[in-house]
Amino acid sequence: SIVFLNDSFMPMEQAKISPMDRGFLFGDGIYEVIPSYDTKLVGFAPHIARMQEGLELIGIKLDWNVDKWREVVESLIEKNGGGNLGIYLHVSRGNDGKRSHAYPENVAPTIYAFAFDIPAATVADKTITKTYKVNSTEDLRWKRCHIKSTALLGNVMHFQQGFTDGCNETLLFNANNELTEASSSNAYIVKDGVITTPPLDNQILPGITRLILLDILAKDGSLKVEERVVTMDEVENADEIWLTSSSKEVAPVIEFNGKQVGNGEIGNVWLTAQTLYSAGKYNY
Ligand code: PLP
Repeated sequence: SIVFLNDSFMPMEQAKISPMDRGFLFGDGIYEVIPSYDTKLVGFAPHIARMQEGLELIGIKLDWNVDKWREVVESLIEKNGGGNLGIYLHVSRGNDGKRSHAYPENVAPTIYAFAFDIPAATVADKTITKTYKVNSTEDLRWKRCHIKSTALLGNVMHFQQGFTDGCNETLLFNANNELTEASSSNAYIVKDGVITTPPLDNQILPGITRLILLDILAKDGSLKVEERVVTMDEVENADEIWLTSSSKEVAPVIEFNGKQVGNGEIGNVWLTAQTLYSAGKYNY
């Protein structure tokens, strides 16, 4: 595949970075994943805005505007033949030849981008949609989960915990037994037709799929949505549980901690929500 490194496109095999890069040594960087279906991007502007906010939060100075990012992202899609692609963008604090904790002065950030295959866009059809089995664990990551840091060891360890138990995601709960999110997705419950998801704070990533979904649902108005604390007890008694992420869109969970969710089948509220999401997502 063709990748972008710092200022040019090249075959992935030719892309080389220093082992002294702070992205490698410290996980000192910000990343983004933007989905693209048949060359149509979903949420390009909010994805870039989130990345720029992340860079600002950690003090990486990069003078790229949205147009520059668009040029790189669109070229990457074209050079990799279109199709269903996730566009991975990564900016690390760069490399000053040392391994010292202090932010180096006057060091150019390392910029890396590549495209990878993602599943075709989700079709709102209960008979063909991929379902998820999840278990749960205490959220033992850090207290800055709103930053999309490349340092993902906490997330990776949580994902692996579910994976080794035969699950394909892990729901995370804080020390008060309140739902935060999942290891690589935002989380929702549905009870008596009401969709509820934890509010944005330092415990969760402000997902772009979440942003788009909530905006579409608010504009449509037919489903009630609440952003508030969700307890373990509520998750255990939910009629439906969903996950969202850029590669999953709205994904139904049919098993939680070994017990079926609702009647163990994909729910009707999911069907409405994913139908609306599919119809509206390219407007963002
Ligand atoms: N939460 C975490 C921890 C994630 O890693 C991700 C993305 O992969 C999400 C939520 C969903 O974010 P988005 O919808 O922007 O992909």
